[in-house]
Amino acid sequence: MPAHAQDLVLSNLPPSRTQQKLALSVALLIVLAAFFISATGEQQVKLAAVDALVPLYGMAMFVSDSITAVLLFTQFSIVRSRALLIISSGYVWTALVVIPWLLSFPGVFAPHGLLGGSSSEITVWLYALWHAGFPMFVIAYALLKTAQPPMQLRRMSAGSAILSCIVVTATAISAATYLLIAFQAHLPRFMEDAVNFSALWYYTAVIIALLSILAIILLWIRRKSLLDLWLMVVMLVFLTEVLISSFPVSARFSLGWYAGRTCSLLSGSLILFVLLYEITIVYARLIGAVRAQSRERGARLVTGDAVAATIAHEIKQPLAAIMTRAETGLRWLDRSLPELERAKEQFKEIVADGRRAAAVIEGIRANFKKDAQIRIWLDINVLIEETLTLVHGDLQQHRILVRAESQAELPQIMGDRIQLQQVLLNLITNAIEAMASKDGLRVLAVISELTKDGGIAVSIADTGKGIPSKETDQIFNPLFTTKPEGMGMGLSICRSIVESHDGNLLVFPNSPQGAVFQIILHATRPTSRTSA
Ligand code: ADP
Repeated sequence: MPAHAQDLVLSNLPPSRTQQKLALSVALLIVLAAFFISATGEQQVKLAAVDALVPLYGMAMFVSDSITAVLLFTQFSIVRSRALLIISSGYVWTALVVIPWLLSFPGVFAPHGLLGGSSSEITVWLYALWHAGFPMFVIAYALLKTAQPPMQLRRMSAGSAILSCIVVTATAISAATYLLIAFQAHLPRFMEDAVNFSALWYYTAVIIALLSILAIILLWIRRKSLLDLWLMVVMLVFLTEVLISSFPVSARFSLGWYAGRTCSLLSGSLILFVLLYEITIVYARLIGAVRAQSRERGARLVTGDAVAATIAHEIKQPLAAIMTRAETGLRWLDRSLPELERAKEQFKEIVADGRRAAAVIEGIRANFKKDAQIRIWLDINVLIEETLTLVHGDLQQHRILVRAESQAELPQIMGDRIQLQQVLLNLITNAIEAMASKDGLRVLAVISELTKDGGIAVSIADTGKGIPSKETDQIFNPLFTTKPEGMGMGLSICRSIVESHDGNLLVFPNSPQGAVFQIILHATRPTSRTSA
């Protein structure tokens, strides 16, 4: 089993500081309450006699101990440690021994119990077995837990091991009950008469108390896990129960008797609460992990899609141009009298398109590798000029008139040259495509100016088909496109690049027709002219 699965099991999970404090507080509270009751010397004060309480108490013990045993067995089936098998059997023991104890209890199912003879004698014997047995299971658990090499069950299946434990424990309890009934006349007596206990009971109570103390000491020495910590509290409550109801022996329905039952219920259900709490926490963590995993998978798919779409989108256009120009160039050369000058022009354009494709790939790489951005001081007008040169062929092909205007004194800006060129290239290509699909005057205006706060605004205005107002919000969304061959990635990439430069990318309608995209880059004061 993988190490991290082991770490999630209660018997291996180390207790947190809060859990340690909580356990200490619970233990202190119980010991103080018991001390308070003993100090008043009022244990024998008779409280209301609720007859239904004994069967209810028995049922509650049976249910909570059985559930605890089932949960502990489940933990055992994960880690397969013998120690866990033993402590689970301890809870099976306490759950099952309650049955004959309740059957024999005088006045519960019959005035003298259902097991015949001197039933209260059998009841006390069963009580003694119950209370002496549990600390022994805890001692065995503590000893096995730190045994080296770790005592793990390998040969037997978890199911058979659990079944064997239940069968052995149930057989032991049945045999003990049978022997108690069969030989009750020969047994040393716990009761002197119907009300008073003999010295044997006090010896037994001392033995149970000593066993509980030994269990606490062993757990303390070997304590490592959450289960160890809470078992210590359980044993402390268990010890308190024995002391409070035996020294002196509390009569039924007295304050001491009620306090003893409360301790017993508490010690029986503490581990159950802790188990349920921890299992819920692990379950919540599991749900969180599954959600995070599926989110991550989704994000990876989207990123993968986005990268593929971007590469396809950005590269397709220069590639198509390269092919057309290569064919045209070849045609010029194929003539009977080759037109060398014209062919040369086409090949120059091919070189420019190739550079453009390379720039685009660099841009995509820089965009996805955020740390790899190279920020330098640059002149935006030079960048615009270079970009217009890259699309020179397209502009000519679609008979587009270019108006490039600039305020002479523009400050330099700090930015990633390749990324900003990619933005300009994308916006200009979109403008060309918007105008190519429409007849009429085709004008591309690229205007750079100073903004009021000393930054730079670059507007790319076209006289194309324009953007319907209902689409203005969507065009920046990844994968939104209205073009049959479009990828819908260009504008979303442009916006993320501009925003990573602390700028804004805006869009508004051009007058009388078309669209204007405006890049706003805020002012940055040059301190040095070196690469950042
Ligand atoms: P693509 O160009 O692959 O469709 P973009 O993200 O670059 O992806 O553009 C998204 C959409 O925005 C385009 O399909 C188009 O409808 C619209 N668009 C972008 N620029 C313009 C423009 N200059 N004129 C009109 N519509 C535009």
